[in-house]
Amino acid sequence: MDAEEIYQRRIASRFAAFDQDGNGYIDREDFYTAATRLLAEFGVPYRSDRGQALSNGAEAFWQGMAGIADVDGDQRVTREEFVGGALKRLRDNPHGFAEIARPFVRAVLAVAEGTVPGVERALVVLGVDPHTASLTAESLDAAGAGRVDEEEAVAAFGRYFITQEPEAP
Ligand code: CA
Ligand code: CA
Repeated sequence: MDAEEIYQRRIASRFAAFDQDGNGYIDREDFYTAATRLLAEFGVPYRSDRGQALSNGAEAFWQGMAGIADVDGDQRVTREEFVGGALKRLRDNPHGFAEIARPFVRAVLAVAEGTVPGVERALVVLGVDPHTASLTAESLDAAGAGRVDEEEAVAAFGRYFITQEPEAP
């Protein structure tokens, strides 16, 4: 596999992570789907403080994503828009991108009660394969206390989406 191929695969996996319903574009529905799945998994009612926080976080995340990447303003982010907008913006300002996700990340941690096993379950619900989910959740517990810290989670989120473009041949 050459560098270009690795890059394309990474983009495909990042895009797929957002395209929760797998219909080929990212829109508000994907964020809503993710929030609904998480609430169902953890038995948290939509009409509860944590349910509302997750819903609001998902909406804010979608708005931020659309603001960065929905170039033609049709309320859908295609793969082309994702590559052109989100990933480029990310490389320029990874911290800013992570901040867009912060309310959602914080709400997910609240729903998952901030524990390592909880975060692992949440990642699996979001479509991460179980092995990666397990490694990721453990890596977020830098202090080894069995809990995942918001700063750690937001930073990891930013890192995950920073994808280097291959060197020009
Ligand atoms: Ca979708
Ligand atoms: Ca669009």
